[in-house]
Amino acid sequence: MALKTTPFPDWLACPVCDELHIRPHLLDGQIALCKNCGNHIVGRNPHGLDLPFALSLAALTAWITAILLPFIHVSFGGQNQTVSLPSAVTMLAEHSMTLLAAFVGLLLIMAPLCSILCMLYLLIFLNRNRKPPFYRFFLKAYSRTRFWDMTDVYLISILVVLVKAVHMADILLLYGFWAFCLQVLCIRLAFAALPPRDIWQVLITSSTLPRPLPGKRAMEAGLVSCHICTLVHSISQKRCLLCSSPLHSRKPQSINRTLALTLTAAILYFPANLYPIMITVNMGEVISSTILGGVILLWETGVYSVAIVVFFASVFIPLAKLIALSYLMGCVYAGRRIFPHDQTKLYKIVEVIGKWSMVDVFVVATLAAMVQMGPLATIEPGIAATAFAAMVVITLFAAETFDPRKLWDRKPEEKHAHEPERTGTS
Ligand SMILES: [Zn+2]
Ligand SMILES: [Zn+2]
Repeated sequence: MALKTTPFPDWLACPVCDELHIRPHLLDGQIALCKNCGNHIVGRNPHGLDLPFALSLAALTAWITAILLPFIHVSFGGQNQTVSLPSAVTMLAEHSMTLLAAFVGLLLIMAPLCSILCMLYLLIFLNRNRKPPFYRFFLKAYSRTRFWDMTDVYLISILVVLVKAVHMADILLLYGFWAFCLQVLCIRLAFAALPPRDIWQVLITSSTLPRPLPGKRAMEAGLVSCHICTLVHSISQKRCLLCSSPLHSRKPQSINRTLALTLTAAILYFPANLYPIMITVNMGEVISSTILGGVILLWETGVYSVAIVVFFASVFIPLAKLIALSYLMGCVYAGRRIFPHDQTKLYKIVEVIGKWSMVDVFVVATLAAMVQMGPLATIEPGIAATAFAAMVVITLFAAETFDPRKLWDRKPEEKHAHEPERTGTS
């Protein structure tokens, strides 16, 4: 099954700092860390492929249950409403909230389903020691869809919904919700057990006597590493021979793209915070609330922990992300390698926390789908909901377009002036 598709199967370059390594022969349960920046490069699950297979099968069963069964029940002023996940999407679309319906449908329903199906498909073949047909497509789809799966963020949103609506209505979480929780747990464990980069390692054969490394960093040695499967190629190669991804020594126009996206997100931050995110009509009375207004209301109600969570997710994290990305771009623009370890850690934090800002968007979407009771009470998203959702998605793209390897690059004059420094961590 294994493929040997490049003259350099024995080498591996860290995707964060570009340091070259000899490809390790890992046993089950072992991971390989970058000796320069400490980044987790590749690993082998201690339970082999059986555990991720069982987890993804359980996640698929839970997903089907969560879709088919009712999710939440609302009682308000003698009116009752039961909402399932698909009916929430339909309801949002029917009430002209197309963008929110698309976010809920894609990020909470389709992304987890696609990642579960891709994982199951690949594992069915890999468990039999066979190369999966069309494996390039399915591995890439698995990498992409697991990035956009935001079901874990949605669980926090449900907690906020319960706290916000506790004085307005009686809310009952039904079987669909508990199946959804089980799906989130199984899929997170499956993701942790089988990162996409680790799947590719099954397909790469390295020789038992690896050749010595030609240099310390891939670019300096005239090599380029595939960011999807880790296979190292000559710098003249345009596409990865294993996974067909485009090869770039550094992401093209990385700083320009990150700058454009960060500026767009920064502009959207103002309408997202100044305009109402949610409009409630209760017995004819119209109440508009902004993000910060919602936080203050939660605080005044005495639900301090939820107020702090919403403040961090909706106000602090987006702003901190914009500042952090601007700082990282400034470091690269200055062209000097100062504190690259700390800057790399900062970049990883930005990557991890980004999606948690979607909490408020999902809260508004859930309340809007739940509370559509005609003249009695309705909740609709304000203009800020669209601006905020767009801002979060744009900052996710901004973090993705940034190339952390540039933090480790130096100007040619600096390269000659200093001996390269090395700090082993593994
Ligand atoms: Zn590294
Ligand atoms: Zn590749």
